[in-house]
Amino acid sequence: MSNLRFKAVEEAFKKKAVAVSAPAPLTSEYYGKYVFNKEQMAKYLSKETLKTLTGVIEKGETLNRELANHVAAGMKMWALERGATHYTHWFQPLTEGTAEKHDSFIEYEGAPGSPIVEEFSGKLLAQQEPDASSFPSGGIRNTFEARGYTAWDPSSPAFIVDDTLCIPTVFISYTGEALDYKTPLLKSLNAVDKAATEVCQYFDPSVKKVFSYLGWEQEYFLVDEGLYATRPDLVLTGRTLMGHESAKNQQLEDHYFGSIPTRVQAYMKDLEFEGYKYGIPLKTRHNEVAPNQFELAPIFGETNLSIDQNLLIMSLMKKVARRHGFRLLLHEKPFAGINGSGKHNNWSLGTDTGVGLLTPGKTPEENLQFITFIVNILLAVYKNNALLKASIMTAQNAHRLGANEAPPAIISVFLGTQISSILDKLEASSSEDAIIMDPKQGMKLGIAKIPEVLLDNTDRNRTSPFAFTGNRFEFRAVGSSANCASAMIALNSIVAAQLVEFKQTVDAKIAEGSTKDKAIFDVLKKYIKESKPIRFDGNGYSDEWKAEAVKRGLDTETSVPVIYDAYTQPESIKLFEGIKVFSERELHARNEVKWETYTKKIQIEARVLGDLVMNHIIPVATRYQSTLLDNVYKIYQVYDKDKAAKLSAHDTGSIEEISERISIIKSKTEELVEARKVANKIDDERAKAIAYHDKVVPYFDEIRYHIDKLELIVDNELWTLPKYRELLFVR
Ligand code: ADP
Ligand code: MG
Repeated sequence: MSNLRFKAVEEAFKKKAVAVSAPAPLTSEYYGKYVFNKEQMAKYLSKETLKTLTGVIEKGETLNRELANHVAAGMKMWALERGATHYTHWFQPLTEGTAEKHDSFIEYEGAPGSPIVEEFSGKLLAQQEPDASSFPSGGIRNTFEARGYTAWDPSSPAFIVDDTLCIPTVFISYTGEALDYKTPLLKSLNAVDKAATEVCQYFDPSVKKVFSYLGWEQEYFLVDEGLYATRPDLVLTGRTLMGHESAKNQQLEDHYFGSIPTRVQAYMKDLEFEGYKYGIPLKTRHNEVAPNQFELAPIFGETNLSIDQNLLIMSLMKKVARRHGFRLLLHEKPFAGINGSGKHNNWSLGTDTGVGLLTPGKTPEENLQFITFIVNILLAVYKNNALLKASIMTAQNAHRLGANEAPPAIISVFLGTQISSILDKLEASSSEDAIIMDPKQGMKLGIAKIPEVLLDNTDRNRTSPFAFTGNRFEFRAVGSSANCASAMIALNSIVAAQLVEFKQTVDAKIAEGSTKDKAIFDVLKKYIKESKPIRFDGNGYSDEWKAEAVKRGLDTETSVPVIYDAYTQPESIKLFEGIKVFSERELHARNEVKWETYTKKIQIEARVLGDLVMNHIIPVATRYQSTLLDNVYKIYQVYDKDKAAKLSAHDTGSIEEISERISIIKSKTEELVEARKVANKIDDERAKAIAYHDKVVPYFDEIRYHIDKLELIVDNELWTLPKYRELLFVR
């Protein structure tokens, strides 16, 4: 008997690499072709308009109607020449991903029925009112209340996808609360700019602005689309809810940096071609550790733009995958037993004078500045380790965190031996020693002698969720499907708040008569002591570390819904309100959304699991059991009782095992349905999410265990769901 699974495998094997969608010219010739960037603006806007707009962008001001009209006119001309017929405000609701509602440029020239013209006014560019009632708001905007609106973020350039001009926007309720990620992100970038600039001015008064930089590394899986289509769990939840480990998976580590499979290589090339058109500076592509897992990374850029580019590339990745007969899996843990996917967020700060604040400097002043930022970041991460964890936590990412292959569920910082020893020396020194700064000899303590290239690959700790890697921190706990903004809002905010506090403390000491350098050293020394518990250079996956982290008072909570509480602790509310990133009301509302989303994800998975158990697993296992019974029956027809018992022993063993497993699967599935019903009656979103976490989730692994055992005994020909060895190795 042949089933869909075999057909899909056969088809997948036959697939060949397809040509890239267009012959590839020199990248620089078409790079950014579909982006209304500075060069295009210079062509399509008057000098006057461009100058005012640049000012608005740099100062983060809102634009007035007249300017908006001028920009819109230029943008329209640019877009029409490139074949755009529609426009949309492109925003980032809390559902993750992006949202858009397309409108055509057409309008009647005059009264209805008069000739059609293409229209795009400043009003349409600057602001729109999408019917926002279906986006999560955590109760801020009831559906019958005032609607939300989107407003252009001029710091991120517009671009054209297919026939549509996309305008990056914020999404806000009429009462002013953020309903998206971009709004608080821009506020946090502003906060860190302000706070860091003030601190920089201790060292270099010419610094006027500090930028936050982000370089993401996006991991993903590709699965043949035919195989994908025959796995309802992948289609509906993005992950496999069952599937026995393949005999070979990643043990040999032969996939990582191995040669890229041809069909995948064609996909990557095509994807890069698309990405370059949007000015996304894709730089690196390679295989990842797990079979069929890959990664791509761009050259880092300003955080706001880099996040928009990540969201755009995620949607391009999906589209291009389909052209190549693949489906893209961005889920954090599509397959059990092998690595999941993350999105390392490489983050740093840099000044408008071109100095990387996390790059060891060439002069003593620059190095004192470098140490100042490192130490403040350490303390910020220490004080807010629970919050940082909350910023990356989702139902999907929970599968990765705490597993032995990805950042643990405890946030710690890895500094490496060189920086660690500098901090240790600094801590042990008297400030009189430390502040002798001779431009020729450098400071004592060797601070001036930190080599520029700090760490080689051997000094890299792969188990650390927050690691210093020479000129940046790598926040590795971020999930592959996440909007990086969540992590970047938290990180930039805690660092901003910490820098504000640092400045106040240092200024107070100066006011009391301390010299500036001594004041800075004294405060840093205190911070180094205080932040010690967050520093950990050992194996983040070990059990000893878990025990040690508890002793150090770090957050070790593993329940997703409870982890979100970190956002609404009094310290967090004070922090976010203090730097004007979130109001208390927004923080509560956003947690409501998180709890609701968590519950829904688990709910969907539970339903899919129930359906698969009843319609796939049990019928198939029963059919095989009946074949075995048939065989036993026939043996007894042919042989005498004793001989028959011997000959059929193997079959009867399997028959009984199948019966037992089916009955456990059935009863556990019934219990799961019951647990869900109980949870569904709870009104409070937090309590409901906790019920789902505590009472529903544990059934998944239990049920799966028996299904996976059945997969091993049931006749391969009867099994309808593609197995791991097919999903992961056929390409
Ligand atoms: P890895 O060695 O961790 O695999 P890469 O060397 O490819 O990764 O770099 C990862 C990302 O870090 C890239 O996007 C790169 O541009 C980015 N990156 C490099 N330096 C910085 C920096 N100073 N600030 C932010 N991101 C950076
Ligand atoms: Mg990295």
